[in-house]
Amino acid sequence: MSARIIDGKAIAAEIRREIRLDVSAMAAQTGAVPCLAAILVGNDPASATYVQNKARACKEVGITSARIDLPTDLPEASLLQEIARLNSDPSVHAILVQLPLPPHISERRVLEAILPEKDVDGFHPVNLGGLLVGAPLFVASTPLGILELLNRSNVGIEGKHAVVVGWSVVVGKPTAFLLLQHHATVTICHIKTQDLALHTRQADILVVAAGKPGLVTGSMVKAGAVVIDVGVNRLTDGRVVGDVDFPGVAEKASLITPVPGGVGPMTVAMLLRNTVDACRRSCDAGRPPGTMPAASGTNRIAQS
Ligand code: NAD
Repeated sequence: MSARIIDGKAIAAEIRREIRLDVSAMAAQTGAVPCLAAILVGNDPASATYVQNKARACKEVGITSARIDLPTDLPEASLLQEIARLNSDPSVHAILVQLPLPPHISERRVLEAILPEKDVDGFHPVNLGGLLVGAPLFVASTPLGILELLNRSNVGIEGKHAVVVGWSVVVGKPTAFLLLQHHATVTICHIKTQDLALHTRQADILVVAAGKPGLVTGSMVKAGAVVIDVGVNRLTDGRVVGDVDFPGVAEKASLITPVPGGVGPMTVAMLLRNTVDACRRSCDAGRPPGTMPAASGTNRIAQS
């Protein structure tokens, strides 16, 4: 293997340490403690585990979290009412609704009901549109985590050819736009792309978020490429693997993320950071005009 591993677990732990310091400094300065409300509809075990992990991570850094468990057969209107209640509660700075939702509930209507200022998942159209014009309040945690992994591994993005496989609203599209905002030349591939390998072989930075184990093999990667594997696939034997054939691709790449232990831990770390930003912004909103400090760096994006 020639590639160096990007250790997402270690980088995420470092970020959580920074966030813990931020949270205590903010509490000392303003008395405010960030609060994240997580809504879980139904009893899907994987969703419950995700929410539990997020709550544990909040606790570790000093963020308050509130978990709202709702029944699977809850009418959509009741969920929207719950979101309205959290929107108007000033002690709640951040709201997330764990996806997927039961089929009788419209994810889009639910995500659009969250106030953009509290939308730490970055899925509200105002925040997605903000990313397009370079000024979102929040960017989704997984794309932010990918950018942070690249930055902290000293991977220059400007002028590089980045290829993103997958164009979901959760990962592919926001990742592509973040890379573009950082002046990469970006190609987006998807299920209908003809000759995927033709594109992936041109990538200096290759981000794969397709949910297909083994989709990208060594022969599809340029020597020296940086490969970020977002996929999380549970195989029938219980193993969790990414979308990239790790041994084959690691022979060619210069840097590569493992699965697990790559992008996954970063997603939670960036959610925490978004929550702290939400709280800081809400404190700043109470300041007299002209005394607003600069926004923290996370979501500010250079544009030209
Ligand atoms: P999705 O199903 O919404 O989107 C998958 C995308 O991949 C689609 O745009 C599709 O066109 C593309 N695709 C599928 N097969 C393809 C193929 N053969 N060739 C080219 N493109 C193909 O999934 P998603 O929500 O974007 O998630 C993608 C993967 O990332 C999943 O494995 C998911 O579990 C994982 N994920 C991980 C994290 C994390 O924190 N590590 C976060 C979100 C998603």
